[in-house]
Amino acid sequence: MSPHSDLNAFWMPFTANRQFKSAPRLLERAEGMFYWDAEGKEILDSTAGLWCVNAGHGRSEISDAITAQTRRMDFAPTFQMGHSLPFLFADRLIKHTSKGLNHVFFTNSGSESADTALKMALAYHFVRGEPQRTLLIGREKAYHGVGFGGISVGGLPNNRRAFGNLLTVDHLPHTLDQERNRFSQGLPLYGVEKADALEELIHKHGAEHIAAVIVEPVAGSAGVIVPPAGYLQRLRDTCTEHGILLIFDEVITGFGRLGTPFAADYFGVTPDIMTTAKGLTNAAVPMGAVFSSDTVHDAFMSGPTEQIEFFHGYTYSGHPLACAAGLAALDIYEKEDLLHRGSLIAPSFAEMIHSLRDLPHVADIRNLGLMAAIELEPKVGEPGARGYEVLLKSLELGLLVRATGDTIALSPPLIIEMSHLDRLFQTLREVLRTIS
Ligand code: PMP
Repeated sequence: MSPHSDLNAFWMPFTANRQFKSAPRLLERAEGMFYWDAEGKEILDSTAGLWCVNAGHGRSEISDAITAQTRRMDFAPTFQMGHSLPFLFADRLIKHTSKGLNHVFFTNSGSESADTALKMALAYHFVRGEPQRTLLIGREKAYHGVGFGGISVGGLPNNRRAFGNLLTVDHLPHTLDQERNRFSQGLPLYGVEKADALEELIHKHGAEHIAAVIVEPVAGSAGVIVPPAGYLQRLRDTCTEHGILLIFDEVITGFGRLGTPFAADYFGVTPDIMTTAKGLTNAAVPMGAVFSSDTVHDAFMSGPTEQIEFFHGYTYSGHPLACAAGLAALDIYEKEDLLHRGSLIAPSFAEMIHSLRDLPHVADIRNLGLMAAIELEPKVGEPGARGYEVLLKSLELGLLVRATGDTIALSPPLIIEMSHLDRLFQTLREVLRTIS
């Protein structure tokens, strides 16, 4: 029996439960750029929790707003009834989205946002009289959450293989090209032609059968895979030409991660549907939001006015506490210009992370805005062991990183200062020097 048998009841997500519970790592308090553990040790948060606490931890503006809203009205339905907050929040949000993304459907997570976006795309073609457009196209190495839609279009084999029949989909190739783009800073130069695979899929299936293409503008969970220059524009052009909807999953890249409000702004490419979550409420209350273009939204609004337009929604869509948290987060983002601040920090962040390239076992480094990954050579016969060693050694030295396999991802809160960057990279350097 584990020495911590009181930890057995909580079945942890995406965790090696038995390993964790034999030596648990518990965080107890958080403020600004830091966590503190049960022993009171200060830990620099280089991952904004899980790519989500963009304005830093413990923002009292957000907790005050949640508390006040709990007292005013804890819950109200948004099915055939309403309350003012989701209308207000949606209206505030669309002031930050690129042209035409003027409509917001609220969910409770990134996974629900992905499934909502896919259903919205299918229903869009249905209501327009093209019900045969049912094929969804994802991309290898993509992560779109854990709903059945999300894992179907997702491209991470571990997340799919135990779950039997999924939706019928097809996949574009991923854009990681370590032959040509290893240690690229920012956008990789090579590989725009990978977008031409969409033409091949159109040829294979027929455009008239394809509903949508979904991609993360920068793939996050697969290890920060930055698209080659021009790639997203080429996907956009092909989708437009063939009447296929383009969905950007901006659950990670949304809300300032790249130094622009959304990746769509960074790349100057506007999708038809855009999914978000995480930074939407600064992670204080779970919430997601799916933004749709006027064209997509308006297609639903042409039937009889007494008819429900989209048979989809969650009990907690537009939950008052989530809206209160989101509005307070947006106040902070606006007041502190956090949706753009990343662009000021990104050059130092890039320089510092790339200064680690000559350390032992570093196989590749990739970055864009305030997200980056260090890929380590796997230990022979023990994939993931080096990544795990970096996680543990970093924690010992007071630094939280995200390790997926042998890839170490960084996505610090957007309030990060130079002193935090110095400490982050000094610690990482020390850790990488000593791993076996
Ligand atoms: N899409 C992307 C791109 C993500 O990174 C994530 C979560 N890391 C999700 C969807 C799923 O979000 P959630 O865990 O909130 O369901």
